Amino acid sequence: MTTSIAQDILQEVFGYPRFRGAQQTVIDHVIANGDALVLMPTGGGKSLCYQIPAIARFRQGLGTCIVISPLIALMHDQVGALDIAGVNAAFLNSSQNAAESRYVEQQLLQGQLVLLYVAPERLTTPRFLAILEALHEKRQLSVFAIDEAHCVSQWGHDFRPEYRSLSLLAERFAGVPRIALTATADSITRADIIERLQLEQAHCFISSFDRPNIRYHVASKTEARKQLLHFLRTEHVDDAGIVYCQSRKKVEETALWLTQEGFHALPYHAGLDIKNRTLHQNRFLREDSLIIVATIAFGMGIDKPNVRFVAHLDLPKNIESYYQETGRAGRDGDNANAWMTYGLQDVVNQRRMIDESVGSEAFKQSLRGKLDALLALAEATDCRRVRLLQYFDEASAACGNCDNCLNPPAIWDASVAAQQLLSCIYRIEKHSNLSFGAGHLIDVLRGKLNDKVQQFGHGSLSTFGIGATLSEQQWRSILRQLVATGAVRVDATAFNTLKLTESARGILKGEVPIHLRAEHKASGKKTTVKNVTARSNLDDDSVDCLKTLKAWRSATAAKNNLPAYLIFHDSTLTALAETMPQSLKELSAIAGIGIKKLEAYGADLLQILQV
Ligand code: ADP
Ligand code: ZN
Repeated sequence: MTTSIAQDILQEVFGYPRFRGAQQTVIDHVIANGDALVLMPTGGGKSLCYQIPAIARFRQGLGTCIVISPLIALMHDQVGALDIAGVNAAFLNSSQNAAESRYVEQQLLQGQLVLLYVAPERLTTPRFLAILEALHEKRQLSVFAIDEAHCVSQWGHDFRPEYRSLSLLAERFAGVPRIALTATADSITRADIIERLQLEQAHCFISSFDRPNIRYHVASKTEARKQLLHFLRTEHVDDAGIVYCQSRKKVEETALWLTQEGFHALPYHAGLDIKNRTLHQNRFLREDSLIIVATIAFGMGIDKPNVRFVAHLDLPKNIESYYQETGRAGRDGDNANAWMTYGLQDVVNQRRMIDESVGSEAFKQSLRGKLDALLALAEATDCRRVRLLQYFDEASAACGNCDNCLNPPAIWDASVAAQQLLSCIYRIEKHSNLSFGAGHLIDVLRGKLNDKVQQFGHGSLSTFGIGATLSEQQWRSILRQLVATGAVRVDATAFNTLKLTESARGILKGEVPIHLRAEHKASGKKTTVKNVTARSNLDDDSVDCLKTLKAWRSATAAKNNLPAYLIFHDSTLTALAETMPQSLKELSAIAGIGIKKLEAYGADLLQILQV
């Protein structure tokens, strides 16, 4: 029965006791020759969805599974992981010389490979297609797996033109099951994948996109660096994580500053030379507690499961980007944080980038719409997860694991304050026939008679000083939220001056009530939610044991030139320290220890665990 084949392989090869989510149904379907489109969030466990059918069908004498994968680093790590699990796999890509490629081709032709990873460029060469034809004739192609399948869609930012020629798989290799996998959920991409890969008959497996182990947190920007430092020091000492910034310059500066603050941090952006970029990426993958500070150039193919946090120092472009970037946290299923700080300047910058971008007005309009959806998420006073999932057409209940659920923000009726602010913009412009920026506006509202206010005679306006009871920070927050909701427009082409929009009218007339999130005072209650990644309750001995296990893992990984997590996940080491197994049999009961790893590392582990 296929069910038990899949189950046996899961336990025996990968050492896992049970499947996650839809894995088992997908795997059974592909083993039974079915085509599949698998949409699963990052960390959902997509790799096993094709690796287990590959192993099962290889054992049935059906040959090799060809995995089409876009990135060399990804292939290398996947093959490394399969290798230690005792599965014969290889890759073909441009990092190899001719002799190495020949050797792999030979292994393939001789039917020795369970899985072969190739880039789409390689797959579509006449030479490689000829090899595939030969295998196909002998019924020695077990499965085609198209990983990161959203790369076929030219609407996404990961578009790879070569992916579009993959329609040839259906045309030339009829009868070989195809499984396409992606973590990109939107319906345009999905339709594109189905059309391009001719998967009309495929079974569509759509998992929930929720990442329950990720805690979302959005803070309004007061002093970004101080806020980040507080977040890192209270929640992520010694953790691996990613800090995203918008510009290369800021990436460099932030990485340097974090280093000065005592963290291990490295920069990553497209302006670094390829040698350093690769070096930094590899160190991040291989080391335990490194922070990478990066532009969005960093991310695709980052398969590191124990990224404990993703922090945004600048606002991402839209919800899709935010979800993809934050999704790199917590792939191993353990608790992780998605943390962001944002302020008025971020809104202004993003709007300006859209205004200045090339493209039709209709296209820009769609970008603005997407930005607005993100702003609404950032300003939300209710559950962030509900809003995020709603954006992907998924209904859910309040999660209990986001900042708003854990610390419901105080809401206040800001209708009067909003009217004061809007009418102040109006009066200033009417009086001077000029628009002004946020700083000046707030000075007028708070009744500060400084040089500029005097110079323009704004001390005589009826709105001068009407907002003296609110702090500058409170006014900034109100302004930011009015900009986010679109009642005020910031003209980035004219010194960030403020203009009223049509939707200000209803607020001014008192027809549209405004309820805003109350800013926590800088000195007031901490908004950081504590204890998110508190480790399990290990006693002192177990903590020491875990340290020894980690040191052993680092050394073993370095010896084999592999990322530490490919040897064992953190959760496996923690389970070992907790339960202290004393025999091979007891070891094999720990999740993450399959037969091959037991053989390779069992003796070492028992020695460390000896009581
Ligand atoms: P995706 O490609 O969907 O982002 P991966 O295939 O890389 O996810 O899986 C994420 C992590 O979860 C991997 O480290 C993998 O070993 C682990 N994993 C996958 N399936 C299971 C399972 N059934 N039980 C335990 N761990 C699993
Ligand atoms: Zn919530």
